[in-house]
Amino acid sequence: MPAEIIDGTAIAEEVHRETAARVTALKARGIQPAVTFVRVGEDPASRAYVSRKHKKAEELGIRSDTIVLDEKTPEAELLALIARLNADPAIHGILIQAPLPSHIREQTVFATVAPHKDVDGFHPVNVGKLLLGDDSGFRPCTPAGVHHLMIRSGVETRGAEVAIVGRGNIVGKPMAAILLQKAPHCDATITLLHSRSRDIPAHTRRADILIAALGKAHFVTADMVKPGACVIDVGVNRVADPASPRGYRLTGDVDFEKVRAVAGKITPNPGGVGPMTIAMLMANTARAAAMAHP
Ligand code: NAP
Repeated sequence: MPAEIIDGTAIAEEVHRETAARVTALKARGIQPAVTFVRVGEDPASRAYVSRKHKKAEELGIRSDTIVLDEKTPEAELLALIARLNADPAIHGILIQAPLPSHIREQTVFATVAPHKDVDGFHPVNVGKLLLGDDSGFRPCTPAGVHHLMIRSGVETRGAEVAIVGRGNIVGKPMAAILLQKAPHCDATITLLHSRSRDIPAHTRRADILIAALGKAHFVTADMVKPGACVIDVGVNRVADPASPRGYRLTGDVDFEKVRAVAGKITPNPGGVGPMTIAMLMANTARAAAMAHP
């Protein structure tokens, strides 16, 4: 029997409904939740991501502003802008869209956003809180979204063997930090794999939960998956597709059709993790507004 599909679009809508209710309650108290997106340059993927986030924020009643800076903007100018946004009490969330041009140090920029406005969860204080199991910080949206997908589709993590392929700062590492906590819906045994790992299939075949977050199209094949396992596909890859008007299509890190025949549960891609990333960003923004007005 093919694996059950974990419908990220439907679960994200559920989260959005909860966020909209939270926004309505804040507005009833005279608080207008607000987020500011900053984009540097005209990277087409970044433009699309920011415009999608902006649209969803407005739909939920969150005020959303987008500031676009020229590709050549000096780092100091971006840091000065962030300082102004940090000081503005009407703004609850700040998101600096990555990737940034190469002359700008990404970690410096992330560390300049005030931790209590860091709805992306990339500030070192929030990263540290996540590792310590301190729930007062913000969690990075993509791994937090994957966690919610698992919780809301009944995937048992306690004592489970989890293999994560990819140790990136945005997905793999924080994903590991979330699932290894001594806490409900966590308590997993984690194997974090990367490009220097030996015999990756030997590890993934042991996994009850396999999370692919490396950015290599169709890397995870059916023979790498334990029968009945839950497979989560985080990757976003462009593959050439002459049939598409754009000349390419987006696909994940998992060979979906073949893996579906072996797995117990699986996320489609697109339509799995992607919508959850935006849902967690909106939830973090509503929470930032609530935290600013206890
Ligand atoms: P990243 O920082 O570039 O990390 C990629 C990781 O994959 C690295 O740890 C790298 O190993 C590992 N890797 C690369 N090739 C490998 C191979 N052949 N075998 C084993 N490991 C390999 O990427 P990221 O920012 O974490 O993102 C990961 C993927 O998730 C990307 O496709 C990205 O587009 C996608 N993503 C999706 C969403 C969403 O909303 N759906 C959000 C964020 C990211 P080394 O460390 O050894 O180099």
